[in-house]
Parts: sequence; C-alpha cells; structure tokens
Amino acid sequence: MRYVSPVSVAIYAEGLTKSYGAVRALDGIDLEVPGGTVLGLLGPNGAGKTTTIRVFTTLLRPDSGHASVAGFDVVKHPDEVRRRIGLAGQFAAVDECLTGRENLYMTGRLYRLSPKAARARSVELLDQFGLTGVADHTARSYSGGMRRRLDLAGALLVSPPVLFMDEPTAGLDPPNRIMLWKTIRRLVNDGTTVLLTTQYLEEADFLADAVCVINHGKVIARGSPDDLKAQTGGDRVEVVVHHSTQGAAAAGILQSLGTGKVSSNLPARQLAVPVTGGAKALAEILRRLDAAGVEIDDIALTRPTLDDVFLSMTGHTARTPAGAGPDEICPAASGLAVPGVPGAAEEADS
Ligand code: ATP
Repeated sequence: MRYVSPVSVAIYAEGLTKSYGAVRALDGIDLEVPGGTVLGLLGPNGAGKTTTIRVFTTLLRPDSGHASVAGFDVVKHPDEVRRRIGLAGQFAAVDECLTGRENLYMTGRLYRLSPKAARARSVELLDQFGLTGVADHTARSYSGGMRRRLDLAGALLVSPPVLFMDEPTAGLDPPNRIMLWKTIRRLVNDGTTVLLTTQYLEEADFLADAVCVINHGKVIARGSPDDLKAQTGGDRVEVVVHHSTQGAAAAGILQSLGTGKVSSNLPARQLAVPVTGGAKALAEILRRLDAAGVEIDDIALTRPTLDDVFLSMTGHTARTPAGAGPDEICPAASGLAVPGVPGAAEEADS
C-alpha cells in the first residue's frame, strides 16, 4: 500500500473489494479525497455506495484492499477512525422515545462532552436545524424531514474532521435541502472533509469538488463536475426553425459551425449541434441564420447536466426506482446510533 499523508489525503481507498455471498458489492474501489474537500459518490441503486461508506466508517470489514481515514487504517485502527468521523446515514439514528433535545444531549454525552457542553451544543444545533420549536417533543411525533435533521445534527455534535453522509438530504423539502447544503459548505470552509452519496445530482454539482461515479462496485469515472460534463459532450446549440421547409438550410449552417453531427427532428422543427466556444458560437450561428433568411422561433445554448453524465455513463437515471439492495441492509447493522464513538459501532460484517 502506498504512503498516504493524512494531512493532504483525508479519505483513501485502494483496491477495496467486498462481497455479500455471490454479490460482489465492491470490485476494486480506488479513491482519494483531499482534506477540506467534498467528494460526491454517485451511482445507480445497488452500485456499492453504502457499502463503501460502511467500510470507511468501520461498520464493515473489506475482503481485500486498504482504506484509511485521517491517516488511520480502518481495519487496523478502527477506534482511531471512529474518533475522527461523523456519519449521517440513510436510516435516521434517532431514539423515538426521547425528545429532540434529549437525543442530542445523549449523543453529546456519548461523545464524552461534559453535561454543560452537551446541553449548550444541543441548543445550538436545535437552533441551526430549525428544531427549537419542537425540541421538547418526543421524536416519535416528528415528521421524516425533522428526524433526518435531528440525525444530521447528531452527526455534527463534535464537529468531526471527516464526515460521511449517505444520501443526507433524501426526503427533505427544498428549503431544508438548501439549509443543509449551506451547513455542509460552512463545515467544509472550516476544514471538514466530506464524502457524500446522493441521488440529487444538483446536490453533487453544488457541493462536490470532485465526483466519483461507481457502477457494479467499480469506479467508472472521476473528476470535477465540470470535467465530467465536458466528457459527456460539452455545449450544444439548439434551434427551433419557424418553417420546417427551412430545416435543410439551417442544418447546413449548423453543420458548418458545429463540432459534430447535426441532429434534427424536422416535424418538431428542432435541430441541434455540438459546439465549442459557447456564447460566441451561439452568436455566430444566429448571425448566419439571419443572413440566410432562416426564421427561427427559438435558439439556446445548452450544457450537459450531471444527470446527462450519469445517464451516459451508467445507462440509468440517478433516481431509478430501488430494486433489491439498500432495503436489505439491516437498519440495526447500519450502526448509525452513535457514529464517531470509539467502540460504539460493532463490526457488522455479513
Ligand atoms: P442504493 O443507492 O440503492 O443505496 P448502493 O449503491 O448504496 O445502493 P449498496 O447498498 O452498497 O449499493 O449495495 C451494493 C450491492 O450489494 C447491491 O447489489 C446490494 O443488493 C448488495 N448488498 C448490500 N448489502 C447487502 C447485504 N447486507 N447482504 C446482501 N447483499 C447486500
């Protein structure tokens, strides 16, 4: 295994494999997350994202390969790893019989905060996550979104240097999602390293410095969101002509100024071509169409989204309905109750 500086690389994996019986969930994952950055782990349902997170958070032992967090090997030094991580998972780790305030206080005490510090931190987080008004209601009465916010607040109790988030905003409404994005941004600005999985690609676009796309337990693409979009085909100019009879003339102009094949749907009077040079190419196409007397109803420069990237690489949309997979993970074995507490999470190997 190569030497990895815990200062520059906060999360590291090399050749990770993990099988559940005949299912090869991880098939040689390599990844590296520089300290103080966000890696978005993307992949269709069953790609191996949760399994990767469970290995990094010491809940699952890999079959082979190496993984380290903050410089500590997850298999050899799990307690050291747990001291340095927070985990917010797909299953909200909330005790339903306790109030929101009691949940946070209890987690704070498990993190070995003093009673006074645990109380003060709970008040801060309840406020930050908009839960002050329901702080003294039992969590049983909370909506799904409120539980998730309480769970996330718990993961942030001791400001861990490395934070793992498995679909952190699943089920949150847009205002709460944006609130959480801002919280994550703030943490990263203060030096926290974050690895998150998400099915909301706009979330990865907004938050992630780098994205790793995994499929069938292998990394199939990596890079910044912009790099990946560029690989998927770059910019396109899309035109809607007013008369379908002018389609051929428009196609000739697009062909001469574009960088690839013109695609057209003439009954709908639509044409499109890949371009380089963005707005300049758009202006030139517009000028030439005008000079040729081609009347248009619409013209636009479009950029691929991460959704396009994802679809072209995996053949799935990011939100394919779940098949067999995550539901099979026993919530108890996900071990999310007290992330970060040495010895609190048991090895949940299967
Ligand atoms: P999702 O987006 O649906 O949460 P994922 O990318 O997180 O999916 P994993 O949950 O890591 O994927 O699952 C990877 C593969 O391993 C899937 O085929 C899944 O069915 C299988 N798997 C996961 N956990 C178990 C388990 N405890 N026992 C058996 N198979 C499992």
